[in-house]
Amino acid sequence: MPYRQPGNWLITGASSGFGQAIATAVLERGGRALLGARRTHLLDPLVERHPDRAVAQPLDVTVPEQVDAAVAAAVDRFGGIDVLVNNAGSGQLGAVEETADAELRRLFEVHVFAPAALVRAVLPVMRRQGGGAIVQMSSSFGRYSAPGLSAYSATKFALEGLSQALAAEVAPFGIDVLVVEPGAFRTGILDGAFHHSAAMPEYDGVVGPVREMLGGLNGTQPGDPAKAAAAIVTALGSEAPPLRL
Ligand code: NDP
Repeated sequence: MPYRQPGNWLITGASSGFGQAIATAVLERGGRALLGARRTHLLDPLVERHPDRAVAQPLDVTVPEQVDAAVAAAVDRFGGIDVLVNNAGSGQLGAVEETADAELRRLFEVHVFAPAALVRAVLPVMRRQGGGAIVQMSSSFGRYSAPGLSAYSATKFALEGLSQALAAEVAPFGIDVLVVEPGAFRTGILDGAFHHSAAMPEYDGVVGPVREMLGGLNGTQPGDPAKAAAAIVTALGSEAPPLRL
């Protein structure tokens, strides 16, 4: 069942990249959006352009109180949530042997536990409304992996499994789940942790080329996030949205 359009959206990681592009597409189509991010100042331009329909919300998705507050704020401001976009994420590069538990846990917090918490908080609202849609930003690395990408891939594989089960669980309530698996898109993701140098020189030979490939790609990735955002919004609005995009 397509969500009620143009709809009330809750978008995590709306300060950059895909989140910002999806927020822009939604607002340009007349939707209302609660924009979550830690760097809320980066949300200001969108809120200034659409002051009646865009709300900036301080949201670190790994903080449960902030997740609950964001869902409550969206319901309070818009009366409901038609689409949740679990988009917040970050990169990590390192061989399994050089990736500390803390780093693996951090990534699972952002890419798995946080989306699960947001889903838990939003589902009662969507069930009450009689429908909605949930977008899970996975990755092509949620389908296969490469040297140095074990932690990133492990979290995205986990998100894929969670989402496949979720889709079957919530379909009877008229709620669609769309799992997005982008390749290489021009966002801020390569500015950060994908640039970490390998800690163990033993892995330079296998992780080094991936690091160099990602570093060399930064800013020249072939994908345009605005086109992906348009495809996501269009796919969600169709009678039978795909499970994967
Ligand atoms: P960006 O770095 O441009 O954006 C990441 C966003 O996530 C930022 O808005 C950042 O906001 C937010 N974020 C990160 N950590 C947290 C947190 N703890 N709490 C709340 N927000 C957080 O990267 P992308 O747009 O590329 O990434 C978006 C999603 O797309 C990610 O899930 C990523 O894995 C996925 N993806 C990206 C690909 C690409 O080629 N770009 C390919 C495949 C998947 P702030 O720092 O302000 O909180």
